[in-house]
Amino acid sequence: MSAPRGVCFIGIGNMGWPMATRLVQSGCDVAVSDAVAGRADQFAQANGGTAASDLVAAVKARDVVITMLPTSGHVEAVVAGIAGGLRQGHILIDMSSGAPAATRAIAERLSSKGVIVLDAPVSGGVSRAITGDLAIMTGGDAEALDRVDPLLKAMGTTIHRIGAVGAGQAMKALNNLVSAGGFLMAVEALVIGQQFGLDPHVMTDVLNASTGMNNSTQKKLRQFVLSRKFDSGFGLDLMVKDLSIALEVGRDHAAPTPLSALCREMWASAAAMLGKGQDHTAIAKLSEAMAGVTLGEATKKVGPTKA
Ligand code: NAD
Repeated sequence: MSAPRGVCFIGIGNMGWPMATRLVQSGCDVAVSDAVAGRADQFAQANGGTAASDLVAAVKARDVVITMLPTSGHVEAVVAGIAGGLRQGHILIDMSSGAPAATRAIAERLSSKGVIVLDAPVSGGVSRAITGDLAIMTGGDAEALDRVDPLLKAMGTTIHRIGAVGAGQAMKALNNLVSAGGFLMAVEALVIGQQFGLDPHVMTDVLNASTGMNNSTQKKLRQFVLSRKFDSGFGLDLMVKDLSIALEVGRDHAAPTPLSALCREMWASAAAMLGKGQDHTAIAKLSEAMAGVTLGEATKKVGPTKA
């Protein structure tokens, strides 16, 4: 069976926009839709593809539906809205970082219509979505995954098959748990170091040449925290959601999660302190506030030991 080329892409936000762009560039017939008025038209003008003015009709006319939405709640609402367009043989790929249990429930409901649901959340952020280098973690039927493989390869370079539907999303939440913990620890180390009199820029260089290196020390500290830009394109609320999913998976399977729970608590506290619309890298301001410092500002209290 040939690979499907018609895709209805729902949710063209920070990630969905560049991902749908990659599909258009790969030669797919892409119809886009977003809750923000005018965004789909802007997309079609900038990238080609079609703005789906009638979403149910756009779904009916294509074989694959991709959702890239904030939460599983949004996906559930969208699926209810397009139910009239879904038919036997459709493949719905939820690429959002969703909740495995919710995705499994959607998959079960839609299976009675002959619709196959796959989950394929991604990692790599906006920069790797633009270059088509995302890491994609898939869950679901192997044959359906074979069919949509060319679509996934237009958006990502590493495509992992994790297990049954929902397994990709469990993996994604756990990836972000590790990432969130690493970011918090790196920021706290910079705060301690600056209090001691170390330069956080120098510290970042040393961490990146040493065993303390992680994705945040390499790609976030200098770029978004020390620069004070806080504009990575991944929302603080979305990180809290991912950590909540990781804990939910732990709870569902009776896994002890003391450190993960503390980590989520810190991120949720930052979200409460900073308010809506924050980038996830702004959590550094929580650590700064607790210590009464601003990273990058000289606060030489003690100073390093002289040689
Ligand atoms: P975003 O908020 O930028 O985009 C979500 C888009 O969905 C918005 O444009 C919004 O208008 C649209 N939307 C919401 N409800 C809708 C509806 N009912 N119908 C149509 N459109 C609707 O979020 P994002 O950063 O693109 O993230 C999307 C998903 O990908 C999330 O699950 C997130 O956790 C995950 N993710 C994000 C990143 C990142 O770096 N931003 C990286 C990996 C994974």
